[in-house]
Amino acid sequence: MLLAAEKWRKEFGVDELVRSFEFTEIAEVDKYYPQYYHHMDKSGRPVYIERIGNLNMKALYACTSQERLLQHLVVEYESFLSQRLTACSAAIGHPVETSLTILDLGGVSLSNFIRVKDYVFAATHIGQNYYPECMGAFYIINAPWAFAAVWAAIKPWLDEVTASKVNIVGGPSAYRPLLLAQIDKACLPKDFGGECVCEGGCSLSDVGPWNPQGGKLKVATPADDSPTASALTEKIAGVTVTESPVNGQVLSA
Ligand SMILES: [Zn+2]
Repeated sequence: MLLAAEKWRKEFGVDELVRSFEFTEIAEVDKYYPQYYHHMDKSGRPVYIERIGNLNMKALYACTSQERLLQHLVVEYESFLSQRLTACSAAIGHPVETSLTILDLGGVSLSNFIRVKDYVFAATHIGQNYYPECMGAFYIINAPWAFAAVWAAIKPWLDEVTASKVNIVGGPSAYRPLLLAQIDKACLPKDFGGECVCEGGCSLSDVGPWNPQGGKLKVATPADDSPTASALTEKIAGVTVTESPVNGQVLSA
């Protein structure tokens, strides 16, 4: 397993990606397929959110590719391990080793989901094989009735431990109390029943103990060749967190 992981890291070019990958199309991708870290939950786990309700595959693959989405995913996993967990552990005062993931299926059509399934399967494969210890809890919210069929298709792809961490819930009245039991109101985006409204949108703020100010670093347009984009890459590329990551405002909320 360890050897397989080493082999995969080499073939995928993980170290090189961490050094040089720039997800310059992030603002475009965000319109169709937001995927982002945003604050931490009450036990200090970074919260990771994906929404596939606005998914427009044609528009998505006009601005990026499956390969780049997967490369971005891996770079994010690496910075999750090298920076986010460290910062969250320091902020909460005990070791944090996993994330809380929210997958929002609101507004998704079955046909759209079927179109994105290749990416989802590839992403799931990477997650459970090469970053197996990262997922603490997984909430699939706004699950439409047809999702039962989709879930039946996905479940065999998941190992038992992963599958046991997955909670599938329906609309706001069902998922809000569940999420708010795990995440402070102030840290949960307003769209999900919390109170957070980040400037420029929660999905592009990358706010959390690893980036207490949140904000603009992450926003780059496809044509953007400015220092903003490279500053972001440096930030993601494993720069050690040196300043105190504690943000009292957020933590005490
Ligand atoms: Zn926010």
